[in-house]
Amino acid sequence: MSSGNTLPLRLPSVDSLMQQSAMLDLTALYGRSEVLRGVREVLAELRRAALAGRAGADGDVGALVREHLAQRLRLQLQRVFNLTGTVLHTNLGRALLPDDAVEHVAMAMCQPCNLEFDLDSGDRGDRDQLVEALLCELTGAEAATIVNNNAAAVLLTIAALAARRKVVVSRGELVEIGGAFRMPDVMAAAGATLKEIGTTNRTHGRDYADAIDSDTALLMKVHTSNYAITGFTTSVGEDTVARIAHDAGLPMAIDLGSGSLVDLSRYGLPKESVVRDMLAAGADIVTFSGDKLLGGPQSGLIVGTKAHVQKIKKHPLKRALRVSKITLAALEATLQLYRDPDRLASRLPTLRLLTRTREEIAALAERLRPTLAKALGDAWQVTTQDASSQIGSGSLPVDRLPSVALALAPAAPAKRGSGTALNQLAARFRRLPIPVIGRIADGCLLFDLRCLEDEALFVEQLSHL
Ligand SMILES: *Cc1c(COP(=O)(O)O)cnc(C)c1O
Repeated sequence: MSSGNTLPLRLPSVDSLMQQSAMLDLTALYGRSEVLRGVREVLAELRRAALAGRAGADGDVGALVREHLAQRLRLQLQRVFNLTGTVLHTNLGRALLPDDAVEHVAMAMCQPCNLEFDLDSGDRGDRDQLVEALLCELTGAEAATIVNNNAAAVLLTIAALAARRKVVVSRGELVEIGGAFRMPDVMAAAGATLKEIGTTNRTHGRDYADAIDSDTALLMKVHTSNYAITGFTTSVGEDTVARIAHDAGLPMAIDLGSGSLVDLSRYGLPKESVVRDMLAAGADIVTFSGDKLLGGPQSGLIVGTKAHVQKIKKHPLKRALRVSKITLAALEATLQLYRDPDRLASRLPTLRLLTRTREEIAALAERLRPTLAKALGDAWQVTTQDASSQIGSGSLPVDRLPSVALALAPAAPAKRGSGTALNQLAARFRRLPIPVIGRIADGCLLFDLRCLEDEALFVEQLSHL
């Protein structure tokens, strides 16, 4: 260092800082070692700033340490506002749990519980039994088992029923779901050989029948969750595939992806395949997600005939893929709600959001528009715009729900069409204490209000813009 006048030498010592009352207050909050660490890091940063001649080298050390510690101890998993227009958004946590489920989870987390304990006999129990009867009641299945997610359910089903043998699947149903779930890869990972049949757009009953040989273990149908093949198409119904399988003495499985426990058209929504109907059509096994349309915790549900579910439960992978008590508690309480379909739309958040009317969302948009416009100032124009929400997570890929969005666009025409300003605005909203996530389309930042329920909290965020 060249001279005694450089800023670094004017920095207080660690010891003197630690004696300051502000640091003692922080110590009571965070503990001495955290504060000491914070003080050292802030001083080091100030020293670097001074040497580099950067601004801010003479900052208030106490305030900087407080900010540093608050940042460091901020939890990484944070609440956000999902205004993307996709209700079951995989990257934003999919289904929101109903209150009953949250309460039941809290009990299971904080207290001992009969996870694998039979209260009648006092013997060891089976954790699946906590929800098996309920799942059977709701789907008409003979038996059920639960794993970590639907990807695990498919993997386990194929490993248990078809390892080292062939599984017949139509070329039109070889799906890839986001996050690298690809049907052919799952087959390989489960140790089975994929036998593709038909073509991308057309598969016939005889394709299934002709593909069966002495090495075939399973006929499988996969729900085309995130795409639709239209035009000159033919696919074979579940009942026909099941009949062809059974005629050959083989089981038939369906990966339903989302799948619903009730007919959604009852709530004015597009019809999605119902698990009960798939079993009634003759499927021996149906797999589906717990946190898609069902509206519960992340889990994979496997339902079907006793013999096949038994085989799946006995496979060694089951132990590796089993769910925690937290999942089971959330799932049980969520499934309970299905016993009262009349109140389901108000009690199950997923269904509550999906069934929100355009009128209700439009009224919310009208209320919020002036508030948002004021918070953003003259540089931005805020309008309300018709939008169409998606269900998401591979449910009903082509259906849309009429909704309303707040559309934010640069007020100056010259700035329109420049993506940078919009991206910067989107980043500003992501930096709010409770980040607001929208989507950019057609030269606007769009906030689809279908999933905005806590209006006051949203307005509160705007004061931090
Ligand atoms: C979503 C989906 C999966 C994966 O389910 P996760 O619960 O996300 O593991 C598998 N198959 C289909 C058809 C799906 O739609």
